[in-house]
Amino acid sequence: MMFDASLKYGILGLARSGIAAAYKIKELRAIAFLSELQEARQILSAQELLQDFACEFGGHTDKLLDCEVWIVSPGIPLSASILQKGKAQGIRMISEIEFGYQIKAEDSQIIAVTGSNGKSTTASLIHHILKELGKNCILAGNIGDAFCSFPIHKPGIEYIVLEISSFQLDLIESFAPQVAILLNLSPDHLNRYPDFAAYCESKLGIFRYQNSGDFAVLNQDSAEITKRDEFIKAQKLYFSGIAQDAAAQVNGKFIQVGKDKLSIYELKIQGRHNQLNALAALLSIQALGLDLKQGMKAATSFKALPHRLEFVDSINGVAFYNDSKATNCDSTKSALESFERPIRIILGGSDKGEDFSLLTDSLQKHAVKAYVTGDTQNLMRQAWLGKLPLEFADDLDSSVRRAFAEAAMGENIVLSPACASFDHFKNFEHRGETFKAIVREIKREKE
Ligand code: ADP
Repeated sequence: MMFDASLKYGILGLARSGIAAAYKIKELRAIAFLSELQEARQILSAQELLQDFACEFGGHTDKLLDCEVWIVSPGIPLSASILQKGKAQGIRMISEIEFGYQIKAEDSQIIAVTGSNGKSTTASLIHHILKELGKNCILAGNIGDAFCSFPIHKPGIEYIVLEISSFQLDLIESFAPQVAILLNLSPDHLNRYPDFAAYCESKLGIFRYQNSGDFAVLNQDSAEITKRDEFIKAQKLYFSGIAQDAAAQVNGKFIQVGKDKLSIYELKIQGRHNQLNALAALLSIQALGLDLKQGMKAATSFKALPHRLEFVDSINGVAFYNDSKATNCDSTKSALESFERPIRIILGGSDKGEDFSLLTDSLQKHAVKAYVTGDTQNLMRQAWLGKLPLEFADDLDSSVRRAFAEAAMGENIVLSPACASFDHFKNFEHRGETFKAIVREIKREKE
């Protein structure tokens, strides 16, 4: 499907991506009608939007039915009654990523990254390498600014690196990136999908419209991926932490793509999971026909993003790491496995419907003790009581202080909650910043 300026576009949900799409439509001289569930006073830019567009706030009404295409915010569940109604009326519904794809200039190549964990890290790493190679490129989607907020309809951007969530993939009709990466599949967002299989199908959608000239970068170690990848028409490139026959692999203390090798000690991002992220990034660089050796060199200057296993500080020989972005069990598992010695781990937050017993083995193996706070305390107690040393605290501050009081020199204290943050914090960044402030405060007290 191509963009058609004669159509009227309905924008459902006025967050970052919806607003960016609306202004792009205006720039392209088509008509947009904006519709938001919340009241105008709850939307930061409502006054500006009201001046620039026809809008409705406080609910989605039948006015939307006058629009031929809806651009739906990833925040709106597919089960929402307005979407059911639109579907019944046969309205075309797309995500902002699909819309951006339809209007982008032909000369821009897209590298799209999805998966349950590692999207931001891998997308940022690819962007970092492309910049180091002197390419004109942008990083957009879930990370940073919305896809449509860039001048993507104009030629000149060589590469567009997109971080894509399953919600954006639910509503595509032609989106076909030159390189699509699926990092891993583990339970997440189970509150938004009927079951795990439905969530997996949604993620696999990233390959649906690709053809044989495109590339699919896939995790060979994930049975959930390999059992579903037969339909993919793009050329498949696998990475693996175990297999020695994959296009990209971990080989002892090296990561290797084809014949080219890079020592894992040269990478600034740590842990096996980050080695896999790096392999996926480098396979994409190779798929784009760029210089792999130079790409590897560029990868060595990439630093961990904030809140992803980020080193905070060290007090009396105890190191603190902020992994607030670990909002599901699998990301916390990767944190547990990233350190040579067992860690003191701080867990808990708001519930996303996960089964915490998935972490029991890793905790037993890699944690000295778990300090649990937040709304998931009871669920975590049920999962782990009697199985590992546990401590329950009312808030993050008490947990961190307790862990520090009990830690010996040379130990690590890691905030890696395995949960969303909305019980006590605005978002994962707020939780991570709060953690860092607590560490700073402890440091001041010790000086
Ligand atoms: P996403 O954008 O998919 O949420 P991030 O790069 O922001 O991914 O990382 C989120 C969390 O997952 C962090 O705690 C990080 O340490 C962890 N993580 C990163 N890459 C992986 C991976 N490949 N497998 C498992 N966990 C990972």
